[in-house]
Amino acid sequence: IGEPSEQWREYRGAPTGTDIECGGWRQEAALRMLNNNLDPEVGEDPENLVVYGGTGRAARSWDAYDAILDQLRDLADDETLLVQSGKPVGRFETHEMAPRVLIANSNLVGKWDDWEHFHELEAEGKIMYGQMTAGSWAYIGTQGIIQGTYETLAELARREFDGSLAGRTVVTGGLGGMSGAQPLAVTMNGGVCVVAEVKGDRIDRRIGTDYLMERADDLDEAMARAAEAAEAGEPYSVGVEANVVDVLETMRAEGFVPDVVTDQTSAHDELEGYYPAGYSVAEADDLRESDPERYVAESLDTMERHVDAILAMQADGAVAFEYGNNLRGQVREHRGREDAFDYPGFVPAYIRPMFCRGRGPFRWAALSGDPADIHRTDEAVKELFPDEEALHRWIDLAQERVSFQGLPSRVCWLGYQSNEDGLTERAEFALRINDLVGEGEIRAPVVVTRDHLDAGSVASPNRETESMKDGTDAVADWPILNALLNCAAGADIVSVHDGGGVGIGNALHANNHVVLDGTDLAAEKARRVFTTDPGMGVVRHADAGYEDAVDEAEESDVTIPMRGG
Ligand code: NAD
Repeated sequence: IGEPSEQWREYRGAPTGTDIECGGWRQEAALRMLNNNLDPEVGEDPENLVVYGGTGRAARSWDAYDAILDQLRDLADDETLLVQSGKPVGRFETHEMAPRVLIANSNLVGKWDDWEHFHELEAEGKIMYGQMTAGSWAYIGTQGIIQGTYETLAELARREFDGSLAGRTVVTGGLGGMSGAQPLAVTMNGGVCVVAEVKGDRIDRRIGTDYLMERADDLDEAMARAAEAAEAGEPYSVGVEANVVDVLETMRAEGFVPDVVTDQTSAHDELEGYYPAGYSVAEADDLRESDPERYVAESLDTMERHVDAILAMQADGAVAFEYGNNLRGQVREHRGREDAFDYPGFVPAYIRPMFCRGRGPFRWAALSGDPADIHRTDEAVKELFPDEEALHRWIDLAQERVSFQGLPSRVCWLGYQSNEDGLTERAEFALRINDLVGEGEIRAPVVVTRDHLDAGSVASPNRETESMKDGTDAVADWPILNALLNCAAGADIVSVHDGGGVGIGNALHANNHVVLDGTDLAAEKARRVFTTDPGMGVVRHADAGYEDAVDEAEESDVTIPMRGG
C-alpha cells in the first residue's frame, strides 16, 4: 500500500469549518468522510489504511488515496467518480441528481468468491477489503455501532431479564473498532461486562475513550471485581488481556456460568482477524508471516474450542448469541460442526421484527466539526418524535456517555412508518436537518448515511438474513436492487460490497450518503432516498412472508405488486 500520504499526515482527520476545497458540498462531504475514516481517533490502524473489522480499508493504497482526493477536488456538480475496491478508475458526466461517487468493493464472481482468491488478488494490489462502512467512507468510530449493540442488549434484557441487565454478567471477546462498543452498551443497560482482548493497547484505547471502565491484571482479578459489581447491581466493565478462549475455558473449569455469553473478535477472517490460543500476539503475527496455512489451521482450531465453550455455557443456562462475526459459520464450514448454529444469531433473535418495519440504523455527521450542530440535531429528533420513549432515552444516554471521535456524529434507529404527510421517519428527520442547515441554525451541511446492516440492504445468510421465513437467506438480488434504487433516488454516494463483517463470499450489501446542505436539491434527494431505502426493507420482508412487513406495507402505502403470491 506504500508509505502514508503527506496529505493524510497534514489532514490528520476530516477538515472542518465552512470553507471548502472542492467544487461543491457533495464532493467536499466525500473528501471529509474519507478523511474522517482515516482520522487516527476514528480508524483502528490508519497508517495501513485500515479503518476497522480486521483489514477493512478506506482506500486501496496511499497512491489511490491521493488520487481519490485529487479527483474529488476537481469533480463537477454533474459528474460521477467511480471507485473500484478503493481505487478511482473513471469519471463521467452524469447529472446533478445522480450520485457524485459510486463505489464497489471486494466483489467477486460466485465461483471465485472466497478468501483464497481474494487474498491472491489483494497481494497483487488488485482488490481491497472494504468491510461495510470502511470502504464506503461511512465509519464514524465505535459510536456508529454503539446504538445497535445497546438496542440488541436492551431487547435481550426485555426478553430474558425483566428489562434490565442490572446484576447480570455478560462475557465476551474483542475490544476493536466495533467490538469496543460492547462494554459501554452493557453498562448503559445496567449490567457488568467482562471482555477478553489479546491486544493490551486496544484495552487502553477503550478506557481512554470511556467505552471501558477498567483493566484487570488477570482473570481472577477481573472476575472478583465483576462479581462484586454484579452483587451490588452496579454497572461495571473490565478488560483482561487474554485470548477469549482461554478465558471461557477457565471460567468453565471454575464452574462460573455468565448470564450472557457472546463474542465480537474478528472471527470472520481466520488469517488477519482472529488470534489463535497458545501464542502471544507477537508470536501469532510472526506465524502469520512465516506459515499462513498453519496460522489458519490453529485459528480455526481455536474457533472450534470457542464455539464449544459457548455451547457448554448455554447448556449450563447462559443466554448465548452471536453478534455478527461469523464465528459459527467458520466452525460449521471448516470443521463440519452443524451444532455450531445451536445458538442463535442476533438478527433472527432480536432485530428482524424491526427490519420488517423498515427500521434500521440512521447516522449523521456534522461537516462543520462543531459538536453544537449535533446537539441541535439531538433536540430536533426529540422534538419530531415526542412519543418515542426509547429514542429519547438513547439520545440522552448518548449525550451523556458517548464521546465524539472525529467529526461529531450521532446514530439512532428510525423506521419507515410514515406521518400524515406521507413522509417516513427517516425522511421527516432528514428534511428537518436540511431546514436547520438552510436557516443557519446548523453551521455547515450534515451528511446522513447508515450502516450496510439495514432492513433491505444486505444478503448475509449467517447474519442479517439468517433463517429467513421463505429460505431466501442467500438471495443477493436485494442488496443490488437496493444500491440501484439508491442511485435512482439520488443519493450522493452509493456503494455495494462483498464480505463485510462475515467475510468474503458470505454477504453482499449496500449503503448510501445524502448531503443536507439546506438546498431544495438536498430536500428532494432526502425525501426520495429516505423513503425508498427503508422501503426496501419493508418490501424485502413482505416478499419473504413476514406479517409485520405486510402490515407495514398496508399501513404506510407501500406498493407491492404481487403481495400474497
Ligand atoms: P477489529 O478487528 O477492530 O477488533 C477485533 C478485536 O478482536 C481485535 O482487537 C483483536 O485483537 C481481538 N481478537 C481477535 N481474536 C481474538 C481472540 N481469539 N481473543 C481475544 N481477542 C481477540 O474488529 P471490530 O470492528 O471490532 O469487529 C469485530 C467483529 O465483530 C467483526 O467480525 C465484525 O464484522 C463483527 N461485528 C458485527 C456487527 C454487526 O453484526 N452489526 C457489529 C460489530 C461487529
